[in-house]
Amino acid sequence: MSGELDQRARLAAFQWLRAHMDVHGEVLPRSLLAEGFTLDGIRVPLLGPQGIFKPRVCELPLSITTAPRGPYDDAWSPAGLLRYAYRGTDPAHPDNRGLRLAMERQAPLVYFFGLEPGQYVASFPVFVVRDNPQTLTFEVAVDDIQQLAVLDAQPASAIAEERTEIRREFVTAGVRRRLHQQAFRARCIEAYRTHCAFCRLRHQELLDAAHITADSETTGEPVVSNGLSLCKLHHAAFDRHFLTVRPDYTIEVRQSILDEEDGPMLLHGLKGMHDRPMYLPREVSLQPDLKRIEERYALFVQSTS
Ligand SMILES: [Zn+2]
Repeated sequence: MSGELDQRARLAAFQWLRAHMDVHGEVLPRSLLAEGFTLDGIRVPLLGPQGIFKPRVCELPLSITTAPRGPYDDAWSPAGLLRYAYRGTDPAHPDNRGLRLAMERQAPLVYFFGLEPGQYVASFPVFVVRDNPQTLTFEVAVDDIQQLAVLDAQPASAIAEERTEIRREFVTAGVRRRLHQQAFRARCIEAYRTHCAFCRLRHQELLDAAHITADSETTGEPVVSNGLSLCKLHHAAFDRHFLTVRPDYTIEVRQSILDEEDGPMLLHGLKGMHDRPMYLPREVSLQPDLKRIEERYALFVQSTS
């Protein structure tokens, strides 16, 4: 086994992930990741049954994985680094030793974040930056190539080291936000059993999680009771107050839209929703929070008057 092969496998894994994210979007099926690709005739899976994963062709671990529905917030340090638990409690376990070596050599890894069983979001390259044997955790900087490129284009205004530190925290916060949003979307769509809450469209690829209380507000948490599973059209229309939900969970379309004459999209897609009951999650705790709906309705009335 050579370091050269290890490195080639890592780069090939990043390329393979980028190509599949172009096709599938951000959320990748676990089966695809477990299957992986072939390098020099050897299969290279991207993850395995355990969190820390090293394929046969690599000297060092290639990926770390957080299982779906794992803890969210407590997994991040105040500095914005991902806290990744050791495998078991023995710091000398081969998996933990492997990850420590990856830290010493600053090997780029892939971080897989489980959204739902079988659905993962990949972040790469990520780097293990600290080892905490007392708490049995590693700390990982979840960097992101594209965001790094954007930041590298900024004029150098601080000393290099400080800039690296700021960049690392900023980028990791950005990735964390993206993972939270993907998790919110997945939970929301699942609660609505893959339906648009307004038109009942059932194509996952066309569904979003819309916030009832905007996420720019401090109370706009990404919880399902603050979300609606909506198709792209109804998400955009809801955000712009073309239509809304009344406190009795029926849909109300803005008067100016009802008065408008246009083609079939306006007629069926928007005007046709007026006065209809919205589609609700079966579980009451997942249904839209009434206080939020009332506040949202007040905003709608305000925006149309
Ligand atoms: Zn819809």
